[in-house]
Amino acid sequence: MYEFERETAVEIVAEVCDLTRRVQDSIVATGDSLTKGDRSPVTLADLAAQVVVSLRLARGFPDDPLLAEEDSGALAESPEMADRVLELTREHISPLTRDEMVAALDRGGHQGGAGRYWVLDPIDGTKGFLRGDQYAVALALVADGDVVVGVLGCPNLPAVSEAADHGSLFSAVRGGGAQSHSLDGAVRGAIHVDAITNPADAVVCESVVAAHAAHSVQAGIADRLGISAPPYRIDSQCKYAVVARGEASIYLRLPRDTSYREKVWDHAAGAVVVEEAGGRVTDLDGKPLNFSEGRLLGNHRGIVCSNGAIHERVLQACRAELNID
Ligand code: AMP
Ligand code: MG
Repeated sequence: MYEFERETAVEIVAEVCDLTRRVQDSIVATGDSLTKGDRSPVTLADLAAQVVVSLRLARGFPDDPLLAEEDSGALAESPEMADRVLELTREHISPLTRDEMVAALDRGGHQGGAGRYWVLDPIDGTKGFLRGDQYAVALALVADGDVVVGVLGCPNLPAVSEAADHGSLFSAVRGGGAQSHSLDGAVRGAIHVDAITNPADAVVCESVVAAHAAHSVQAGIADRLGISAPPYRIDSQCKYAVVARGEASIYLRLPRDTSYREKVWDHAAGAVVVEEAGGRVTDLDGKPLNFSEGRLLGNHRGIVCSNGAIHERVLQACRAELNID
């Protein structure tokens, strides 16, 4: 079940990674936005990627709504940006009018909840994207609150064994396992979380951006688990990918701002990839993530992802560090 959806999602993400990669290459080549802090390249790639995914999904699955991060608001304020997004999108989909482009973007405004819908983060890890570093194109299918398909395109994450191969793509179907692909979508093989049973042997992934996770609290948790390896800081849902393929054993995301509610599109694809690779993803209370409450995740405290075998001990260490029971 959902095999056709997985295949189609892999094709779409592979196409979009090609688009985002070209924009990122031009940022790195000119160095402009790296030094001036200009966010327009990421906006351009973000919006064009969402238009392409939205139109491809509308063709393949016309009845499925889309819950996506972006909308056409930024374009209303900048006709120049609208022209650039249109031009970039037309390299993939042509003919395309401006109105069709705006409609494709705003089709992503689904409110989530019950039923079946696609979830998209066109560029997750925008800070990494602008730095010329890691980011992910994340596409998932949710059915009745459960993520049933997840695809992560990670254009700068090399294959573990072939460092020369620049990027990676990952896919999972609920109950059908997780796979690694090359960036063009060709299957490399099944992926699995690592087999460690002693938490002290773990490598912990966390956000690069300090505002997105409490690095010092996470360091305290690592200490309690006897972990000596330094944290593996990497932007975006690439964190889920590296846990899923056994390169790290834990991904911690404890909020610095406790009122922050996580976004559905920041976790849907990554969570199913890890779970289907044999791992576990919960909040601090050990509850699975709730994808049925709208555009935000259910009211969870933190996110804890692991290889499964060490999950309970990681949760205990989190609770001890945070003084909660
Ligand atoms: P990361 O690449 O792990 O730093 O995560 C990037 C994601 O963090 C973005 O897509 C945002 O949606 C999300 N984000 C933004 N603000 C916060 C915050 N205060 N706490 C946690 N995540 C955030
Ligand atoms: Mg994101």
